[in-house]
Amino acid sequence: MAETAPAKEPIRASEIDPKFKYELTKMHGGEKLLKCFQCGTCTSDCPIARFSDTYRPRQIIRMAQLGLKNRVLNSDTLWLCAACFTCTDRCPQGVEVASVIRVLRNLAAENGCVPQVFKEQACCILESGYAYKIPELRVKKRETQGLPPLPKGNSESVRKTLKGVKFFETAEKKGEPSGQ
Ligand code: SF4
Ligand code: SF4
Repeated sequence: MAETAPAKEPIRASEIDPKFKYELTKMHGGEKLLKCFQCGTCTSDCPIARFSDTYRPRQIIRMAQLGLKNRVLNSDTLWLCAACFTCTDRCPQGVEVASVIRVLRNLAAENGCVPQVFKEQACCILESGYAYKIPELRVKKRETQGLPPLPKGNSESVRKTLKGVKFFETAEKKGEPSGQ
């Protein structure tokens, strides 16, 4: 997945949604968003930020505080979070950083802003029960090594879950978040 970090572009007043931060604070996990004072502890302790030039949880929190709804929801970097909760544990202000990121991802998904790679991964899980397509060669190699066949995924159960979270509707959506 290509990493995009649009936050370095100049901010235009027209792209600020002043209500966005309040919407986020009403969502479960986003309540303490406004307490962030940008100390950077979350970024310095984040295992993903350590290996990425663009992924900065502090920046995501700031974009959310500033109301840069389109930027943050369209940012591919939002999807790099590994949900390890280190940031949440270390934040001196009690901001639930990982949960804010989850809230933002959910909003992004509702607006159709899901990177193609994740949509493809979901399709693969639906088809096979596996997160990626296991090459036939590897399956055959297992046989020659005397290993048992791989268990079959329960795609019907996965389909029910995805239907429950309206995955199919959101996967079809494209474009920028509305409401600005
Ligand atoms: S650790 Fe907490 S207060 Fe510091 S930048 Fe991250 S979210 Fe903000
Ligand atoms: S939860 Fe996400 S943002 Fe927080 S430390 Fe882990 S990878 Fe980084």
